[in-house]
Amino acid sequence: MDRNQAEKRIERLRGEVERHRLLYHSHDAPEISDEAYDSLFHELVRLEEEYPEFRSPTSPTLRVGGDPLDRFEKVRHRNRQWSFDDIFDDDGLVAWDGRIRKWLSKAGIEREPTYCCELKIDGLKVVLTYERGVFVRGATRGDGRIGEDITSNLRTVRSIPLRLSEPVSLTAVGEAWLPKSELSRINRDRERAGEPGFANVRNAAAGSLRQLDPKVTASRRLESFVYDIDDADEGLSLPTTQTAELETLVHLGFNVNPEHRSAGSLDEVRAYYEDWAKRRDDLPYALDGIVIKLDDRAAQETIGYTAKAPRFAIAYKFPAEEATTVVEDIALQVGRTGVLTPVAHLSPVRVAGTVVSRATLHNADEIARLDVRIGDTVILRKAGDIIPEIVRVVTNLRSGKERKYRMPVTCPICGGPVSRRDEGGKASVALYCENPKCFAVELEKIVHAVGRKGFDIDGLGEKIVEQLVSEGLVSDLGDIFDLKEGDLKPLERFGEKSAANLVSAIAAARHVPLRRLFFALGIRHIGEEGAILIESNLPRLVPEGIGTMVDLVERIPEIGADRWADIPGFGEKSARSLAEWFSDESNLRLLRKMGEYGVEPLLSESEVTTASGPLSGKTVVVTGTLSRFTRDEAKDIIRKNGGHPAGSVSAKTDFVLAGEEAGSKLSKAEELGVTVLSEDDFLRLIGRE
Ligand code: ZN
Repeated sequence: MDRNQAEKRIERLRGEVERHRLLYHSHDAPEISDEAYDSLFHELVRLEEEYPEFRSPTSPTLRVGGDPLDRFEKVRHRNRQWSFDDIFDDDGLVAWDGRIRKWLSKAGIEREPTYCCELKIDGLKVVLTYERGVFVRGATRGDGRIGEDITSNLRTVRSIPLRLSEPVSLTAVGEAWLPKSELSRINRDRERAGEPGFANVRNAAAGSLRQLDPKVTASRRLESFVYDIDDADEGLSLPTTQTAELETLVHLGFNVNPEHRSAGSLDEVRAYYEDWAKRRDDLPYALDGIVIKLDDRAAQETIGYTAKAPRFAIAYKFPAEEATTVVEDIALQVGRTGVLTPVAHLSPVRVAGTVVSRATLHNADEIARLDVRIGDTVILRKAGDIIPEIVRVVTNLRSGKERKYRMPVTCPICGGPVSRRDEGGKASVALYCENPKCFAVELEKIVHAVGRKGFDIDGLGEKIVEQLVSEGLVSDLGDIFDLKEGDLKPLERFGEKSAANLVSAIAAARHVPLRRLFFALGIRHIGEEGAILIESNLPRLVPEGIGTMVDLVERIPEIGADRWADIPGFGEKSARSLAEWFSDESNLRLLRKMGEYGVEPLLSESEVTTASGPLSGKTVVVTGTLSRFTRDEAKDIIRKNGGHPAGSVSAKTDFVLAGEEAGSKLSKAEELGVTVLSEDDFLRLIGRE
């Protein structure tokens, strides 16, 4: 995406995010899931970070919550009502813990942090005010500063005490929630009355509490959990930890969720998270994650707040089952029966805990029903371990450059004729390739390429390749290198571990010696020996060298059959076949595609075997202007010392090699606590000083 496109995308995203925000907060009537909304919102945040010149004070990213409605009295909260920052994976957790430790040590607190883990209930946040032990006001969170007065409605919630066990004045914060069983009951009733149902329990809770008639609220069995004392008079001595505060709340008469745990290590936090991620469906209330707070309240205050959220607490969301992404292409894949299935190739996106890059579109009718076009932003859904599917297109984000997909008239794999089959007098919905060998030939090509003498990918035998091709995940060799764990996990024969293993075996195979690459391509008359001859003669035939797949595409076709035939030991047939292969545009397209998915040819096998060294297994990001070598040279040195050069900094980065004027990557590294190397440090590390 260039600057111009980014600006337009930001504008469109703002419009769409704002529209869904209003539908959600002010009308309690969302059109898309919270998760799809979050996904759009986060893309906007990311783009605004990447292109700060397009930031705007009116961007929806600067808002914290809902606008107060006119129909309720407005209440100014005594303390600002924060929402927590979110994390979505273990990297985020590790990074947050790292920041906590850094802040604690800055404040001179040396002991290990203890965390209080609580369930994050999917409901409506409420702020409850008591004077001398009597409930006097209840409000929504609103925008964090001003909420709506819903006191009379909250009085109908039986678990909210109208009088506390002690005559103290305080503000307590909690969540009003609706049991899942109540949602089905309310929706059944609404349906009968011809009213639209609520999309989820959170919206139903919000809709029930923002009723002008408290009798309606009372008819819905709302519940509450309170988790924080926001503000209290001297009559109440506040406990020193979050855990003890929860006990105080119980003592005062509040309903407190009993499932909180104190955790002395990140592993205990992880165990709590994973346990509830599995058991969430068994609970009567809906969860969307857990909240982790530094337990020590004095330390909480020391660490304090950013402009948007507390630093001492974080919401760790459960894997979203919906996310938005872009359809980069639609490709056909052939099945064993000759059926041609259109498959959407997506910008890789995290959904239900894994990264997904493919979704089947089934057939032409389904493409028409969804009206999905190449370039469209779509909502992708993957619940549990089912195969990911496109739910709908976010048409408001169209730029006008999207392309409609047309089913082809010839088979894109073999070039043969295609047709619909007769199914009891009706033409089939699916399209078939009429060449009976189409699937088998394609399959055989891929099996040959990934075999021991080719890319040598562990765990990718014929059975698995057949499965990948039939499921539409792979239609040519190039697709192998774009597979993500989330594409594999739902397949038969795959578990969490085998999917991860295959993805890492594929990653390792991306650096391929030229002789293996030439063998893998399955060019007629080029066997193992021929491939070795090609490799050893290439430096002479292509003095500029071959370092990338693009080099192959640009430089090899210039070598004619005559020059190939001059290679001692190389037959005329091989030479002609090789020249022909490299004059076929579809073959060059395949090479380019492999290059885009990270395949890199290496000149000799020895380069691979020596690629162990001081950087073995380490990921290094190069940034800024280096004085002793170019960035490409630095990347080469990293590879030769066993490391992997990467483009962006994450919690998985081992080192950042920073030159002059290093910018955002350096600050990201510092934020994440990644070791930053100067050029001198780097040379010392690889023993070149
Ligand atoms: Zn075919």
